[in-house]
Formats: sequence, C-alpha cells, structure tokens
Amino acid sequence: MIPSVLPTYTRAPLTFVKGEGSWLIEADGRRMLDMGGGIAVNVLGHANPALVDALTNQAQNLWHTSNLYHIPQQQALADKLVDATFADTVFFTNSGTEACELAVKMARKYWFDKGDVQRTDIITFDGSFHGRSAAGISAAGSEKMTKGFGPVLGGFVHLAWDDLDAITDAITDTTAAILLEPIQGEGGIRPLPDANLKAIRDLCDEHEVLLILDEIQCGVGRTGKLFAHEWAGITPDIMMVAKGIGGGFPLGAVLATESAASGMTAGTHGSTYGGNPLGCAVGCAVMDVVATPEFLAEVNRKAGLLRQKLEGLVASHPDVFEAVRGSGLMLGLKCKALNMDVVNAGYDALVVTVPAADNIVRLLPPLTLSDDEITEAINRLDTAASQIEATLAL
Ligand SMILES: *Cc1c(COP(=O)(O)O)cnc(C)c1O
Repeated sequence: MIPSVLPTYTRAPLTFVKGEGSWLIEADGRRMLDMGGGIAVNVLGHANPALVDALTNQAQNLWHTSNLYHIPQQQALADKLVDATFADTVFFTNSGTEACELAVKMARKYWFDKGDVQRTDIITFDGSFHGRSAAGISAAGSEKMTKGFGPVLGGFVHLAWDDLDAITDAITDTTAAILLEPIQGEGGIRPLPDANLKAIRDLCDEHEVLLILDEIQCGVGRTGKLFAHEWAGITPDIMMVAKGIGGGFPLGAVLATESAASGMTAGTHGSTYGGNPLGCAVGCAVMDVVATPEFLAEVNRKAGLLRQKLEGLVASHPDVFEAVRGSGLMLGLKCKALNMDVVNAGYDALVVTVPAADNIVRLLPPLTLSDDEITEAINRLDTAASQIEATLAL
C-alpha cells in the first residue's frame, strides 16, 4: 500500500522535533550536530532568535495579501538585495526550482523582445541541479532526473562540466544564455575555478549571451562572500537564489540587471505566494546578519578552521576519505568508502551530513557554527570513520 506521504524520498530513520543553533534534537532526545543545515538552508542555525522574532511579529500582523497590492516586506528585501549585489531588480519565489523557471523565461523573453526570436537555447552542464520542475530537470538533463518524465522541455544544450572549449564551440546564434552553478552542490561539490567563471563571463560578453548563475546552494554567505561569483570578480545577468535566503522559511528569488529583466513587464509572470510578508520578513532578517562584512569575515575564518581540521581527518583515515573539496562552509569529503556508509556512521556518531553525487559527503553547516562545534564535528566524523574502518577490517 502506498504510504500516505508520497514515497519519493528514501528517508533516514531520524525524526527531529526541535532545533537549537547548530543542533537537532531527535524524537528520542538525542542531540545531533547538524553539519547539513537542511541542505544549506539553515544559514543562521535553528530557532535563531532574530528570525523567530521576524516571523512571529509578522505572523501577528499579516500573513498574506497578494501581489495585486504593495507588500512592504517584499519591497524592503528587494532593496536590500539590490543594494548588496549586481542586481537592479528582484522577483520572489517560494523555492529554488521556481526561480529556475523564471530565469529561463526571462532569458528567452529578453531575446524575443530584441527581435532575436531564434535565441532560445540555454547551455547547461553535466552534474548540474536546478530543481525538480519540468524546466529544472530539463535544464539539468540527467537521465536520473528526466527518465520517464518526457517529453523534456526543448532548448537546453548539455555540455561537460568545466570545458571552456566545448562552451566556445557550442555558442551559436540560437544561444540565449549559459546557466551554471559556480559550485555544483548536488553534483558533488564541484567548484568552477574562478578563472574559468571569468572566462565564461568573457565569452558571454563577446557573443552577447546572458549569464545565469544558480546560487541557490552556494549563495547567501555560504562561501564567505555574499554570493560565490564575487570570488571571481564577475557579475551575472540573472541569478537564482533560494535555500539560505529564507533561513528555513520557504523563499527564493531571481535577481537580474535592468537590461536582462527588460522583457518582464506587467502580466508576464506571477506567483500567488512569492514575496509574501512572512517569507520576506524572515529574508530581511537573514540579510541584516549575513550581508555584513563582520559576519562574512567570520564565515571565512571558520571555513579555514574547518577545512584544516578536515584535511587532518582525511589524512588519518585514508581508507575512508580521499580528499576535501569546496569553498567556505560548502565542503565535500570525497570518500573511498561508500558515502552513504559514512553518512549513516555519522548518524550513529550523532553528526548529520548530506550525501551528494560523485561519492561525496557534504558539509553545509549553519554559518553560525562555533569553533567548539567545529572541533566536535571533527571528533564525531572521526568516530564515524573509525566505525567504518572497523567494518572494513572484518
Ligand atoms: C536545491 C537547489 C535547487 C532547487 O531548489 P528547490 O527549493 O528544492 O526547488 C536548484 N538549484 C540548486 C543549485 C540547488 O541546490
């Protein structure tokens, strides 16, 4: 009999009933250190007082009106994002994949309005993840996501990851945009070198192609800059944001330059809930903390500490781990053992991590993680690795 919750997830035997900072409390009372952050969502930890205040204050006043009317919290959050980034304008969504939908529509409409109606193709890359909507799975293009769900949406050109020559060859007069994650998340924490992101920006400029960045996982302070592309010293034309921006409340956004957004006039797009007062009140509270130099400096400092300790962990468990990769507090442990075995041993050692493709265990902790919690995370991962070694020795 089908479960009452549609069984599209294979769930770990864990039920969390409360969260406090970097900690998740299981129904049986065990306290687990959360190095997954709800997959890069809980940037300010669980039950952060500033976010709880923002949400409950808003909840006592007004939950929902409609985008037919002005929404002050939405205006405030858009202003904060515009102030802090390349963007001139913002559209709010409830999720990452909805941001992907709009990014695709926006890029195509841009060329349509310019009279370049043939420019509809969007170049995307192996290992990418843009969410589970029809456009999202078609953009990513992997068999794992698209099989059985055809016909996939047309107009996506899939290339190997990080192959500049392939991109140069693939750009034609039907190319509307290039869409990529500066650091692939689900694909296994695969960063694009800064120089290559810069080269892709240059290619886009040379051929007048729009650059769409998916910073849904790597954005909002995760890498120690507000957005990951800042490390490369470039800006996109369109950017998808979600996950961390709501700190745990469902919220996403598409940021764009005035030019890239020029086709999106009244009536061309919409959302009932997108940009609602609750989500935007929380988003403002997240931005007020994350988009400060002091906070980002702390992320960088802690990232250095965690990375150094992880290198030590890898060195002391060469049969379990191979390498550390990633940037900031978006790190991956490339495993020799099965990544799922490491994640499961982590549960036994009371530390939560997240698997990814390419046999990676992801660490995407709250950005508010303390130094002591970093030490504790390493101790628990060390216990998990030792447990795996013990089974390997049998
Ligand atoms: C999670 C994620 C998405 C999809 O976001 P949802 O909120 O799950 O729809 C898209 N792109 C990237 C890079 C992601 O990490």
